[in-house]
Parts: sequence; C-alpha cells; structure tokens
Amino acid sequence: MSGSTILVVGAGYAGSVVARELADAGREVLVIDKRPHIAGNAYDAYDEHGVLVHRYGPHIFHTNGERIVEFLSRFTEWRPYEHRVRGVVDGELYPFPINRDTLNRLYGLELDEAGAADFFERVREPRDPVLTSEDVVLNSVGRDLYEKFFLHYTRKQWGLDPSELKAGVAARIPVRTNTDDRYFTDTFQAMPRHGYTKMFEAMLDHPNISTEVGVDFADVRNRGFAHVVYTGPIDAYFDYRYGRLPYRSLRFEHEHLPGVARYQETGTVNYPNDHAYTRITEFKHLTGQQHSGTSIVREFPQAEGDPYYPVPRAENEALFKRYEDLGRNERDVTFVGRLAQYRYYNMDQVVGAALAAAKRLIG
Ligand SMILES: Cc1cc2nc3c(=O)[nH]c(=O)nc-3n(C[C@H](O)[C@H](O)[C@H](O)COP(=O)(O)OP(=O)(O)OC[C@H]3O[C@@H](n4cnc5c(N)ncnc54)[C@H](O)[C@@H]3O)c2cc1C
Repeated sequence: MSGSTILVVGAGYAGSVVARELADAGREVLVIDKRPHIAGNAYDAYDEHGVLVHRYGPHIFHTNGERIVEFLSRFTEWRPYEHRVRGVVDGELYPFPINRDTLNRLYGLELDEAGAADFFERVREPRDPVLTSEDVVLNSVGRDLYEKFFLHYTRKQWGLDPSELKAGVAARIPVRTNTDDRYFTDTFQAMPRHGYTKMFEAMLDHPNISTEVGVDFADVRNRGFAHVVYTGPIDAYFDYRYGRLPYRSLRFEHEHLPGVARYQETGTVNYPNDHAYTRITEFKHLTGQQHSGTSIVREFPQAEGDPYYPVPRAENEALFKRYEDLGRNERDVTFVGRLAQYRYYNMDQVVGAALAAAKRLIG
C-alpha cells in the first residue's frame, strides 16, 4: 500500500461500487469492513442446513435504472423474481399493498376497478397539507384500513406513531384499484442468480483492490491515504460531536424448518397487529432454491443495535445537515451510502449514488 491508495470504509453497495469504479480507472484501493464479511446488509450465505439466507433480513432487488442494471450485470446473472407480500388481519391473509382483492375479501364486496376507486373516495379522510405518514394513509384509504394495516405495523417498526413520521415513509407504499399483488412495480425485478455475496465477490475481484474484513476505520485512520470514501454512519465519523443520529435497529430470528418444503404462500407475510415481530420471510421464495426443508426469518424492531434505518423525522434531518456541513469541510473524504447520507435508500439508489460519487472522484 502506498500514499496514493484510496481507502474505502465499508464493503456494502456504496463502498464496493466506488471501489470497483476507482479500480477500473486505474486507482489503487483498500476496502475495509468491520464486519467479518463483504456485501454489507445485503450479505447472504448458506445456513448450517444448506439454505441460502439473507443474514440481515430479506433483500429484493428492483429498479427502473437501466444504468444500475447494466453495471451490476457485469458481476452477476439474474433470476427473475417478483416479490409478493400478504398482511395478516384477524387471522386472515390479504394482499399487501392494499389492492382491489384486499377490499373485496376484507369487506365481502365485489368491486370492479371503478368501484374500488369510489370506495377509497368514500372512506378516505382528506388531509391538507399532507405532512406525516398518518396524513398520507388516512388521506388515501381512511381510518379502518389505516388501523388494520398501517398503524400498529408502523408503531412496531419505528417505535413511533405514524403522525410522528414524515410523509415519505408511508408514501413508499402504493394503494391500488387493480388486482396487481406484486410488492414492487419496477421494470427490473430480479435476484442475483448465485446470491448477493457472490456478486460482491466478483465486484471486488480486481488486481487494484485489496479487501480486509474485520477491520475498523479507527484501526487504519491514521495510515495516510490519498483519499477516504466513508460509507459508515456519519455521526460515528465525527465521534458523535452533535449527539447521535437516531437509527432504527432490528433483531433477526432465523429458523430452519426441516422437512417443511413450503412454510407460507408468499415470500413475506406481514403481521401488523399480532406478535412482537413485524414480518416473516421465507427465503426459498426469493432464491428459487430447491431443498427438502425451509428457512425463515422473523424481524423484531428495536432501538438498540446495528444501525439499519435512518429515522425520517424533520429534527433528525436537521441534525444530519449539521453533520453534512462538517463533512463538506473534510476535503479528502467522500461520504456516500445509506448511513453516511442518512437516507432511506434502496439498493439500486445506493448503487446510483456510488456511481455518481466515483465519477466525481475520477473526474
Ligand atoms: C432489513 C432490511 C431490508 C432491506 N431490504 C431491501 C430490499 O428489499 N430492497 C432494497 O433495495 N433495499 C433493501 N434494504 C436497503 C439496503 O440494505 C441498503 O440500501 C444497502 O445495503 C445500503 O448499502 P450501503 O453500502 O450504503 O450500507 P451497508 O450495506 O450498511 O454497508 C455499510 C458497511 O460499512 C461498514 N462500516 C460501518 N462503519 C464502519 C467502520 N467504522 N469501519 C469499517 N466498516 C464500517 C458496515 O459494517 C457495513 O458493512 C434493506 C435494508 C434492511 C436493513
């Protein structure tokens, strides 16, 4: 390693994409991650029963960005997969996001598309302005559906009432008058054919890239690098100078069910009103793997633990802005990624942000 080496902190999407772009442009790159593996939160591995699972919860790839697909396709083949979710209400499974079938089954109706639109129009509670997640949902589907599918789920997931969360959180979830029961409608929906970790291995496999896992930024910070690309939490970089940015964490409870070929009818089932966990995901739906048993994961939201979700509230964004300002003064450091930019980014958005950051650096 020489003083011309660029240090990339974090081997998730943000770090690995920047590292690859810099390496392709002829730069020498050292990638470190404090975890014992690459791929960040998208890390997948075979469990002890031989089922491919996502250690940090289900990751489904979907995007409308051709450039993103083109970039990642250099490192993986794809397996088409459209994610479907059911929500359990009073012991019954309903399509989620809410669509016409959800209404017809829940209320014993036979609405057509126009009828479903009329239904929403009748039950919605118009809100103006629409500022919070509560506003978004009441404004589109009214109180009963809000209470059945959103209110308690949100309280569990975020530890906050929907009225305390910005509109953007609920606005991510559509409401449909047709019977489309896919969770996402993006033009490209697929999983890396051999898993995420394999894709990351291929991305980092370059003569100009060295990768070291189990290494914390603090261990190498003073070694003298030409530049640092930092993809960890921005408040940690600045030793929490202005206090901690709130992140929501999760505890994952993985379970293998021997001899059970199929546990549930869709990849994910949400439990908005029952249990301490929010949802159960069965990985074989996502991966298409054949196995006599199956592996599932339950997600228990919690305040403490690894930072997973930036909490979208105005005061948190204001605090982030203060850190962002500090970041601007660090001339030899680029902050990119979900934790460094404190944004509720999907994988494809992080790839996009990382490609843009790499371009600026190379330029
Ligand atoms: C439960 C869950 C489900 C999700 N599902 C989806 C989905 O279905 N579809 C989708 O598109 N997106 C999903 N996401 C979002 C997706 O995980 C992120 O967009 C993506 O992983 C972010 O990549 P990143 O590189 O910014 O961050 P990360 O993947 O978090 O990588 C950052 C890395 O930096 C390392 N690091 C941090 N600090 C240090 C340090 N001091 N020293 C060394 N290393 C450090 C961390 O260990 C980590 O590996 C989900 C996220 C979660 C939590």
